[in-house]
Amino acid sequence: MRQLILIRYGEIYLKGLNRPYFLHALVDRVKQVAKPFGGKVWLHDARLFVSDMTDMEGCMTAVSRVFGVHSLCPAIEMDKADFTAICEQAASMMEGITGTFKVDARRSDKRYPMTSPQINMEMGGYILEHTQGLSVDIHHPEHVMNVEIRDHAYLYVRVIEAVGGMPVGTGGKATLLLSGGIDSPVAGYCIAKRGVEISAVHFHSYPYTSERAKEKVITLAKQLSSYCCGIRLYIVPFTEPQLTIHEKCPEEYGTLIMRRFMMRIASRIAEKEGARALITGESIGQVASQTIEALCCTDAVVPMPVFRPLIGNDKIEIIHIAEKIGTYETSCLPYEDCCTVFTPRHPATHPKLENVERAEQGLDIESLVQAAVDGAELIEV
Ligand code: ATP
Ligand code: MG
Repeated sequence: MRQLILIRYGEIYLKGLNRPYFLHALVDRVKQVAKPFGGKVWLHDARLFVSDMTDMEGCMTAVSRVFGVHSLCPAIEMDKADFTAICEQAASMMEGITGTFKVDARRSDKRYPMTSPQINMEMGGYILEHTQGLSVDIHHPEHVMNVEIRDHAYLYVRVIEAVGGMPVGTGGKATLLLSGGIDSPVAGYCIAKRGVEISAVHFHSYPYTSERAKEKVITLAKQLSSYCCGIRLYIVPFTEPQLTIHEKCPEEYGTLIMRRFMMRIASRIAEKEGARALITGESIGQVASQTIEALCCTDAVVPMPVFRPLIGNDKIEIIHIAEKIGTYETSCLPYEDCCTVFTPRHPATHPKLENVERAEQGLDIESLVQAAVDGAELIEV
């Protein structure tokens, strides 16, 4: 008998012929996070298992953040031959628990001498007889004693919800425009959750934005990378484009032109990274540069799809996700972003593309973009 973590995966289950590919990626990811705990990881019969970890709770927290994991359970593995011993163990696990319960048995070993309903009945009866303060409710139980009969018998009561999604790396690569705000880390999380490997670009305008603002973004990238298997973060010097735009372009288009520069630079970096899409934290109407017309003007300079997973979310909904994934507090630190430097008093909210293009005519776009790409500092977090 031993204690281990039993892991259930979600959507991968629905995959057909290419399920092994997804499972392989999931096993790799779980191995990666279990390694610091010395955990051994294996796949057997539609479940992943981790055993021999030095710190069970720590390892479970790490595994619960692996995209592709639906839920995990601290379980007891036993020899399946001795049903009385299994019932004794189940009763000892239910000790101290009060209220209603049921036994939920599943057999993948169809040669096992008892059917699932028989296991439910017999074990339920045994638990009732050998514990106090419990009664059976098979429709709405407060507690469930799960029994899985596979190569061994597995018993568990506690089920921990994990992040779900698909294993990182199975969905291609995309590049996130990561500000120090609340939205963009959440946007990165949402896309990474679908199995996408993320690299990130942050624009900073030293000395208008401080060293502490840059540190804050590195911290955010670290927090995101606990879900994403590491992030390559590019810190791009953005002072020169910003000063030039401020000096040479009509004020009302300043923010929009700045955003077009961000997109051009980010797509160059994405191409270098082998990424096929950009990700931003924009949502319709949040600020002037996020009206539909403004978004059309930004997209006009991007040679790849732009994913905006928060486009239909309210700020409060985004905050809830940020709290859940652990980026909210860092995002709230009060350091300036380059978007808040030189903000126009009356930005155009319904810009026409031809007017924006005309407003950019006096700029040497190519050399500004290339200098920013060349000056980018790469940090692996
Ligand atoms: P967030 O949207 O992350 O809360 P914010 O509200 O300060 O930050 P917005 O002005 O809403 O940023 O910018 C919209 C999007 O543009 C961000 O979600 C992010 O993807 C991108 N962005 C803004 N500023 C930067 C920056 N300094 N570096 C990289 N990307 C940025
Ligand atoms: Mg925003």
